[in-house]
Amino acid sequence: MPIKERYRQNPQKYIEESTRYCQENKEKVKESKHNSYLKNKEERIKKAKIYYQENKEKINRRNNQRYIKNKEKYKLTQKRYFQNNKEKIYERARLYRRRIKLEIFNHYSGDPPKCDCCKEEQFEFLTIDHIDGSGREHRRQFGGRGGDALYQWLRRNNYPKGFRVLCYNCNCCIGHLGYCPHSREKQ
Ligand SMILES: [Zn+2]
Ligand SMILES: [Zn+2]
Repeated sequence: MPIKERYRQNPQKYIEESTRYCQENKEKVKESKHNSYLKNKEERIKKAKIYYQENKEKINRRNNQRYIKNKEKYKLTQKRYFQNNKEKIYERARLYRRRIKLEIFNHYSGDPPKCDCCKEEQFEFLTIDHIDGSGREHRRQFGGRGGDALYQWLRRNNYPKGFRVLCYNCNCCIGHLGYCPHSREKQ
C-alpha cells in the first residue's frame, strides 16, 4: 500500500509505526537520508545559489539580525574554536606568512633567494634591505614594525624598486657602519 494511503487510513497508527521504525533502525535511516542527500547534492546547491541571488538582501538582513541577537554566543563559539584549534590556526598562519615572504624574496633575489652581499641562503637569516638606507624612516611609518608589515606593503605596492635581500649580519653592518666587512675583505 502506498505511504499516502496508509497515512490517510489511520494517521495516528502510521505515525506511531514510522516513529518506532526510525527508532529501531536509526543507523539505516541515517544512511538512507545521507544517501538521498548525496544524490541530490548538486541540484540542491544550485537551487540554494539561485535562491540566495534572488533573496540576497532579505537573507543578509536576517543573518545580520541573527548575529546581533546572538553576538555573545557567536563570540563564545569562535573563542572556543580558536582554543581547540590553536595549533592548527597558528601553523596555517605561519605557513601563509612564509609563503608571502618567499614570494617577495624570490622577486628581489631569485630562487632560492640569497644575501646580496655574502650569498647566505639560510631563509631564516634573510631580510629585505632598503638600498638607499631609508629603512628606519620606512619602519617608522609602519609604527616601528618591519617584517610582515613591510612585506604586506611591498606586495600592495607591486614590488617597487630600491630593495634587495640581505642576511641579518650584512644588513646590520651596513645599517650601523655604513658598509659590510665582507666588502672590505674583497678589496
Ligand atoms: Zn650576508
Ligand atoms: Zn656582507
